[in-house]
Amino acid sequence: MEDCLFCKIAAGEIPSTKVYEDDHWFAFRDINPSAPVHVLLIPRQHVKNILALTDETNKNFSDFFLVVKKIAEQEGLGDNGFRLVINTGAEAGQTVFHFHAHIIGGKAMGWPPF
Ligand code: C5P
Repeated sequence: MEDCLFCKIAAGEIPSTKVYEDDHWFAFRDINPSAPVHVLLIPRQHVKNILALTDETNKNFSDFFLVVKKIAEQEGLGDNGFRLVINTGAEAGQTVFHFHAHIIGGKAMGWPPF
């Protein structure tokens, strides 16, 4: 999609610190990390957020959790765990309207997160 920051990052048109990529997914380090590990996982295909998913676009999400697991293990989070956050909509704090999952770890976290 034109003028989408994360589409441009996934296409390599805007630089990022890549940690993972395959045919459907691209992951890079958050520019403003909240923890020692803070990775953003995005689909190459433009999907605004979970509320915008359709039967068609969801086909490329079938391996989402396995990709999250692969990145978490690659980042050394396999023993202590991590937090997966998907802000959906403005009230939840979504600021970039291309689906992204925050994979956050490397420190102890509290709950609730607000
Ligand atoms: O869930 P939310 O939309 O708030 O998250 C957007 C995230 O994208 C933020 O954590 C922000 O630091 C990150 N970001 C980034 N690189 C950019 C712009 C935003 O890593 N160029």
